[in-house]
Amino acid sequence: MITPERPDVSVRENEPGPSANGASSEGPAEGITSNARRMDVVDLTAGFGERTIIAGIELAIEPNAVTALIGPSGCGKSTLLRCMNAMHSTARGAFSTGQILLDGEDINARGVDPVLVRRRVGMVFQRPNPFPTMSIYDNVAAGLRLTSGSRAGRHKFDETVERALRQADLWAEVKDRLRNMGGALSGGQQQRLCIARALAVEPEVLLMDEPCSALDPISTAKIEETILSLRKRYTIVIVTHNMQQAARVSDTTAFMTILEAGQPGALVETGPTSSIFDTPTNEVTGAYVSGRFG
Ligand code: ADP
Ligand code: MG
Repeated sequence: MITPERPDVSVRENEPGPSANGASSEGPAEGITSNARRMDVVDLTAGFGERTIIAGIELAIEPNAVTALIGPSGCGKSTLLRCMNAMHSTARGAFSTGQILLDGEDINARGVDPVLVRRRVGMVFQRPNPFPTMSIYDNVAAGLRLTSGSRAGRHKFDETVERALRQADLWAEVKDRLRNMGGALSGGQQQRLCIARALAVEPEVLLMDEPCSALDPISTAKIEETILSLRKRYTIVIVTHNMQQAARVSDTTAFMTILEAGQPGALVETGPTSSIFDTPTNEVTGAYVSGRFG
């Protein structure tokens, strides 16, 4: 059962050995406090109205690792991500069956507050979406204000905002202008601001849906560096259409596609990123990663 209490914020004893999907999760680095929790997608089917968008998805997501989700447009990657933080069910006509387990608990179980789930499982979207007329500081504190009300003191907010901006690698660039508007930052900085906003509430999992697709190569490289440093503290899932990016940042890669026109999206193959790229088991995976379709 997921309770409103926060799980402990100490380093969790991760199960040693290779994971179910072959990822070699190293666990949090020494001296670093990690909130990361595992997620398991179990026989997930989801869609809208009469239409099934994804079916029979099975995916084990290891903590303190980066899982890349790849596949052609329209195969249901964003739908899967939205199922993973209880956002899918808020859309009109949405349905789903199967389970999403966060640290072993079903996020859709009766009595589980979806607002709490979304705090534990943060999301960063394709287009940076800071509150444009809100200050940099207030953008980062926005989620905190929603979840901790007026209980947290000003000092505590200052500390948390700084921590989140540091983790998102934005602190050095904005520390002297925290009162400036979020909308005045560059695209790449705005995306790191959104990452900071998601991290401020100390999530356990961070979902990123094509976070670099609206960014230039320099900003993209910066976000990739940020992702690599965040894996010490969080569980990360990133959707990307950029194969080089998946290869650079992820430990595990999951390939989804629509195998036959009119069919829902399916998860074809999951494994250590190097295997998926170099020695995929499924020929459809091979065709996709080598750029022969999609
Ligand atoms: P991807 O992220 O892989 O490109 P999506 O999950 O965004 O795929 O979309 C998969 C399919 O679901 C698409 O055909 C899309 O049109 C459909 N879809 C997405 N959102 C909705 C919605 N709110 N209502 C109906 N269909 C939707
Ligand atoms: Mg998408």
